[in-house]
Amino acid sequence: MPNPSVASTRIRFWGTRGSIAVPGPETLRYGGNTTCVELRADGEIIVLDAGSGIRPLGIALQKEFQTRTIKLSLLITHAHWDHIQGLPFFKPAYDSNNEIRIFGFDGAGASLREILAEPMKAPFFPITMRELSARMVINKLSDMKFPLGEVKVHATLVNHPGVCAGYRIFTSAGSVAFLPDHEPYEFFLHALRGNRLSSEQAKEIAADEQAGLVRFLHGSDILILDGQYTDQEYKNHIGWGHGSISSAVSLALEAEIQTLVLFHHDPDHDDEKVDAMLESARELVAKSGKSLEVEAAQEGSEILLEAKKIVAA
Ligand SMILES: [Zn+2]
Ligand SMILES: [Zn+2]
Repeated sequence: MPNPSVASTRIRFWGTRGSIAVPGPETLRYGGNTTCVELRADGEIIVLDAGSGIRPLGIALQKEFQTRTIKLSLLITHAHWDHIQGLPFFKPAYDSNNEIRIFGFDGAGASLREILAEPMKAPFFPITMRELSARMVINKLSDMKFPLGEVKVHATLVNHPGVCAGYRIFTSAGSVAFLPDHEPYEFFLHALRGNRLSSEQAKEIAADEQAGLVRFLHGSDILILDGQYTDQEYKNHIGWGHGSISSAVSLALEAEIQTLVLFHHDPDHDDEKVDAMLESARELVAKSGKSLEVEAAQEGSEILLEAKKIVAA
C-alpha cells in the first residue's frame, strides 16, 4: 500500500489490448481485455478509455465503495470499438448514487454524445444509455487544457484514423501521458507524397508534427504508448494508425521520458511475442546509450509513480 502521507499516483491496467479482446491461456500475463487504465491521484479517480477492461474495474470499484458514492472522470481518446465497448457493462453507471463525468472530443461527423449512445441503441443492445441511472455528464472537449480537481490535463490530437486524442495528466507526483493509438508521423511521408507534395515538403510537415508531439510529451514520468507492431509487421500496416517498437522507443527517447509502457498489444500476439517485443525495445534503448525504462503493460499490474515500481498482478 502506498504511504498516504506521501503524494502518490497509482496507475492500474485493466485492459491492455488493442482492436479486440483476446482472453485465453496464451494472453494470461499481458491480458486479453481492451483498453482501460485507472489513475488515482490527488483525490481523483480518472479512467482512461472504456474498453472491455472497464467491466472488471467497475466490479472492483463497487466492492471498494460498497454503498458510498463513486465519483470518477472518464477520458475517452476516440470512438473505436476497443475504446468504448465496455461502457454498457460498467456496473457503477447503473447506480443512481454514482457520479460519472465523461470527457472526449467529437468524432469525425458525430458528437461525443452520439458516439457513446449509438452502440447502446436497438438493435445493438437491449438497454439504452438513458436508462443508465448514475448521474452522467458528458463533456465535449474543445479546450486542450482542463482541470480535474487538483489534476491538470493537457490534450493533443494524434495520428490515427478519425479524431483521436492523447492525454497528459499532471499530478502532484508527476505526469502520465496516454497515447494508446498513434502512428508515427513517418506515415505522413507516404500519404503526403501521394498528395503530390515534394518529398522535402512532406518531410517538413512530418517533422513539424513530430516536434509538436515531442514538446507535448517532453519530460513525462510515464508514457503509455501504442506499440502494437514489430518493425517488420509495421511495414505491412502503414496507414492503419498504430505504432511500431522502434518508433515508440525513438519517440520516448526524443521526449526524454522516464518510463515507456508499451500498450495496445496486437490481438495476434501471445505473451511470448510481447516478451520478445519488450526485449527488442530494451535492446534499442541500450544501443542508444541513453536512459529509458521500458515495460509492457500487463493487465492487473500497477505502477506507483513516486517509486515507479511495478507491482505484480
Ligand atoms: Zn485502439
Ligand atoms: Zn483506434
